[in-house]
Amino acid sequence: MMYDYSSTIEFLLDWYDQNARILPWRENPKPYYVWISEIMLQQTRVEAVKSYFERFIHALPDIHSLAVVDEDKLLKLWEGLGYYNRARNLQKAAVILVRDYGGELPSDYTELLKLPGIGSYTAGAIASIAFHIAEPAVDGNVLRVMMRVSGCFDDITEAKVKKQLEEDIRAVMPKSRPGDFNQAVMELGATVCIPVGRPLCDKCPLVHLCQAYKNRTEDKIPVKKEKKQRQIKERTIFVIEAGGEYVLYKREKKGLLAGLMEFPGIEMKLSSSAAEEYLDKMGYSMEQIIPLGDAKHIFSHVEWHMTGYLVRLQERVAEDTKIYGAEKGMNKNPPVWASAKEIEEIYSLPSAFDYYKKFLI
Ligand code: SF4
Repeated sequence: MMYDYSSTIEFLLDWYDQNARILPWRENPKPYYVWISEIMLQQTRVEAVKSYFERFIHALPDIHSLAVVDEDKLLKLWEGLGYYNRARNLQKAAVILVRDYGGELPSDYTELLKLPGIGSYTAGAIASIAFHIAEPAVDGNVLRVMMRVSGCFDDITEAKVKKQLEEDIRAVMPKSRPGDFNQAVMELGATVCIPVGRPLCDKCPLVHLCQAYKNRTEDKIPVKKEKKQRQIKERTIFVIEAGGEYVLYKREKKGLLAGLMEFPGIEMKLSSSAAEEYLDKMGYSMEQIIPLGDAKHIFSHVEWHMTGYLVRLQERVAEDTKIYGAEKGMNKNPPVWASAKEIEEIYSLPSAFDYYKKFLI
């Protein structure tokens, strides 16, 4: 639906002037800082992003350094934020920026959209916050606030609904403060018109304009189509130790957690005796096998339901021993042996393995 949001502007900007949180990338909204922070903020809370942002900017202070950084170091800096393709896309875009744009982000919405990992939201955020261009930046927060204000029951998971809202906002954006306007709506969505629980309408600067408030439909808007159920995958994780070092494998370049390190494992849950039998069949000289218990990790479309074992070996396995998913030929990369300290400092072991990482000494 089309809606005229012009009456929200002055109330949003006034509210933002008094309520904007102080954030490291806001104090100095360089295009590079805005870009990195916006990519980090997708799927991650502001409070959690702060320290990652500081560390990232300290290690990679500009687009040139991002373009040339070793991938393992980049992924290490990203460790804990998840969705590692975001980090890879940052680097791909940085390489293009150095090659074609003199190492700077272009001050143009359409040019920004051409870069890997930059969709309409991020392009709008960079254009408006860093370059003061009147383009909307519609994320989940903005969709929620504006759908409630307009009392709209359209399904926000549909691309055309987001597109319409972008057009409605573009039509009224204040040319003098486009970045503040976008940030005001996002901030209101994050702190007042919140996604979980009742919105704090008594603290909202738009309460007198809000159709959802008027009609008592705040809890029914925004409308979201049911997501498909996640696929459940069972796994057995082997934390294999020999001589104080543990074996890791690099995952294949495609698919879930592509190119990241992992503990070896197979795609089924094995009991203690079945695990022992399995490793025995693979030719391991085991000293001890200790059950570590079950753990679960939730990705966007898949859940891993894991069980794990600490396996102490008498000696290291040979380079060509097929530990990981041997029957399925899943991982053909050679094993890497590393101490607990090296795993902590050098290798990026995704948070899916956090529960088992605790057992490294
Ligand atoms: S009045 Fe309530 S529902 Fe409406 S925008 Fe404000 S916080 Fe959200």
